[in-house]
Amino acid sequence: MSKEAASSSSLHTTEEEDDELLLYGSGSGWVEPRTHCYHLDNSLSSDLAHIPNPDTCCYRCQHPQENWVCLRCKDVLCSRFVNKHMLEHHQNHNDHCLALSYSDLSVWCFSCNAYLDAQVILPLRPVYETAYILKFGEAPPFRAVMDLHLADENTEGSTSGNQS
Ligand SMILES: [Zn+2]
Ligand SMILES: [Zn+2]
Ligand SMILES: [Zn+2]
Repeated sequence: MSKEAASSSSLHTTEEEDDELLLYGSGSGWVEPRTHCYHLDNSLSSDLAHIPNPDTCCYRCQHPQENWVCLRCKDVLCSRFVNKHMLEHHQNHNDHCLALSYSDLSVWCFSCNAYLDAQVILPLRPVYETAYILKFGEAPPFRAVMDLHLADENTEGSTSGNQS
């Protein structure tokens, strides 16, 4: 007669999460790529300096375009708009969640379900650069990163002001 599972139902409902949804809501259609991802450590190959050529066909169906390269095992597989082989690959291997598009060099995280900004997320820069060079024959025009300037500005001010 008595139900055991009644204890875990809604005692409190906090509404903090709703504010976040409003802030990051999908009002605009264009979604900014994320600048962080918690899956980088387990989902990146240790050798991303060598990746298949961007004109590689899908390993499974040989489709020549719209392919992605898995950043964990470097398999080249077609997009969800072709035969979904990269999506299947992730479903079969949950830790293979990062893929780089050979169409536009965007990086997708299946676990975040979002695009990642390969210019801001430093671990993704080398493979982005490698793919860019393979595809276009020259290095990508990276945006200026403010961190690079900080090192030079530290010489200002005196060094004699030690606190006691
Ligand atoms: Zn395919
Ligand atoms: Zn993989
Ligand atoms: Zn992620």
